[in-house]
Order: sequence, then structure tokens, then C-alpha cells
Amino acid sequence: MTKQIMCDAPNCDFEVRSDTEEELVSVVQQHAEQHHDATLSREDAMGMVREI
Ligand SMILES: [Zn+2]
Repeated sequence: MTKQIMCDAPNCDFEVRSDTEEELVSVVQQHAEQHHDATLSREDAMGMVREI
């Protein structure tokens, strides 16, 4: 099952897809830090995962 996270920041269309939730979480955490200067908790990132 492929999983996806879409960044929920305004004006940001970043998305990442992976079979691995671990990978999605770490990629979106890095993205939040680097592009939004924001810290995303693991729980928040997990809550953004969707199965596609
Ligand atoms: Zn973003």
C-alpha cells in the first residue's frame, strides 16, 4: 500500500509518497524544518499520512 503525506502549509504543494511510513515521516519533518522553519512532531506527521 502506498502512503502519502501532503504538506499542509499555506502555498506549499510539497508531497511525498512511499511504502514506508517511517520514510514519509522523516522526509516531511525535514521539509518542515528546511522550508517552513517549523518543527513537526512525529505524531503530527503520522496524522498527515494517507493511504492512496
Ligand atoms: Zn511545505
